[in-house]
Amino acid sequence: MQIKKDKVVTLTYDLRIDNAMGELVQSTTKEEPMTFIYGHGQLLPLFEQNIDGLKSTNTFDFKIPTSEAYGEFDPTAIMDLDINVFMHDGQIDTELLSPGNYVPLSDNDGNHYQARVMRVEENTVKMDFNHPLAGKDLHFQGEIIEVREATSDELGHGHVHGKHCNHH
Ligand SMILES: [Zn+2]
Repeated sequence: MQIKKDKVVTLTYDLRIDNAMGELVQSTTKEEPMTFIYGHGQLLPLFEQNIDGLKSTNTFDFKIPTSEAYGEFDPTAIMDLDINVFMHDGQIDTELLSPGNYVPLSDNDGNHYQARVMRVEENTVKMDFNHPLAGKDLHFQGEIIEVREATSDELGHGHVHGKHCNHH
């Protein structure tokens, strides 16, 4: 069976920066593969385009440029936040504020963000709100494990029902 809209696809992939020799960012294995319904906008459009029509055991190897992935790095998305934002019960959580940590934040409208701690200063914390893969060209390499029909339940819910799925 070939990959097309509404098929359930199981695959493994390695995601590296720039090319096949680049830094490994994500890796899935046959024991813990990725499964999704094809053609429902859950993945980068260019990722779906590159595996269109593939079958079980086919391999893939392609690049997604920054502009088609998570966009250019935006220097204005680096902000100094008042350190009191991180105050809980009169204490600053210094462990949370380790440089490199991703911290969940929300604004007054209830929007949620993940931001990376860059540097802690006396009264402020420099935070980077860019997507971790902003400004990067992505290289994907992997294998199609299985392609099957989606059930009508899966199409109705917009997600895959696996053997580990017990949400209903
Ligand atoms: Zn469901």
